[in-house]
Amino acid sequence: MLSKIETKLLIVDDIPENLLALDALIRGDGRQIFHANSGEQALSLLLQHEFALAIIDVQMPAMNGFELAELMRGTEKTKNIPIVFVSAAGRELNYAFKGYETGAVDFLQKPLDVQAVTSKVAVFVDLDRQRQAINIQVRALEQSRREQETLLNELRCAQEELKLAVRMRDDFMSIVSHELRTPLNGLILDTQLRKMHLANGNMQAFTVDRLQAMTSRDERQITSLIRLIEDILDVSRIRTGKLSIRPAQVDLGVLVEHVLERYSTQMSEAGCVLSTEITPGIVGHWDAFRLEQVIINLLTNAMRYGAKKPIDVRVFADSQQAYLQIQDHGVGISEQDQQRIFEQFERVNANHSAQGLGLGLFITEQIITAHQGQISVKSTQGEGSTFAVTLPLQASTSPSDS
Ligand code: ADP
Repeated sequence: MLSKIETKLLIVDDIPENLLALDALIRGDGRQIFHANSGEQALSLLLQHEFALAIIDVQMPAMNGFELAELMRGTEKTKNIPIVFVSAAGRELNYAFKGYETGAVDFLQKPLDVQAVTSKVAVFVDLDRQRQAINIQVRALEQSRREQETLLNELRCAQEELKLAVRMRDDFMSIVSHELRTPLNGLILDTQLRKMHLANGNMQAFTVDRLQAMTSRDERQITSLIRLIEDILDVSRIRTGKLSIRPAQVDLGVLVEHVLERYSTQMSEAGCVLSTEITPGIVGHWDAFRLEQVIINLLTNAMRYGAKKPIDVRVFADSQQAYLQIQDHGVGISEQDQQRIFEQFERVNANHSAQGLGLGLFITEQIITAHQGQISVKSTQGEGSTFAVTLPLQASTSPSDS
């Protein structure tokens, strides 16, 4: 490494022939020699370059060698540059330079002795090369320390993410098993009851009315199981970027009315009165199946958390966008909770009797985003919530496969 390091040397003399002669003596591989024929010129070079050594003639007009050295010692950038004075007057001038005590100052006598010059310069060049090599190593060490620190930080982040992922998986598993168990328990209890009635020949338990009630109960439990499983599958599709969006001509008002019709029984069971303001003929290029999912999610949430109060559904449009708003007058959501309800597994009313997986709004937002639309919520605790969806009328959704 040392042989590749460039060393810069400065020679200062007012007589050009002296400069040339000295240059010829000290020239060598890896050495760059700069000439200055006055103190001023030397100072300007000293400020531009890092020199291993300055060889300065003492007798110069305007600024002599010692004055130049004084100035060098007073400047941060140049104060540590070793100096060799060249003088015809010899050693009697040794102590004329005040900076002598600070070291790294030497003398050469005119006429120059070739051996003395080359060996002195070689010592300073070697010292400079070693200093530069150490600097390079220190910089490399510092760089590798910084890289290690970055790696360590990345490792810590990955560890934290992993811990969070494991915790989320564990939470998810316990929520899923609890949510699946509720409808399954209902189904198994009903089935055991029917088995018992059959074994006892109790056929009054199977009148048309009772059978109808049983079938509706079964259907509700099974539908809720299917919805839970579909939600779980959708989340895994979203994670792998495979949530399918298949756009086609859709009339938003007609779609909303179909869903409201299908959910009218549940709506009255939830004790909610429905009011609608639906502008007809709002047609866009959307995925009807996915938008239906959005409407169902928002509507079932409005019923769940609507506290038996009226629910208002509005569909309208301007020249650019279609708007769907579902408003309830129920429990509402605090401002703090509004930030997190669109995240996976976020459930605010954890002790609410009607529980879900906390996936509905996450999936809803993903579907709307895939349509280049937006969803937002406005809510006041105790007064209700309005979920507002906007969908571009000229959507540029590209079909994707699941
Ligand atoms: P879940 O399936 O658990 O309802 P969502 O993602 O649909 O999950 O909703 C997340 C949480 O947001 C719910 O647990 C509930 O606390 C809150 N939330 C959603 N909609 C409403 C609403 N209309 N009124 C009050 N709280 C709501």
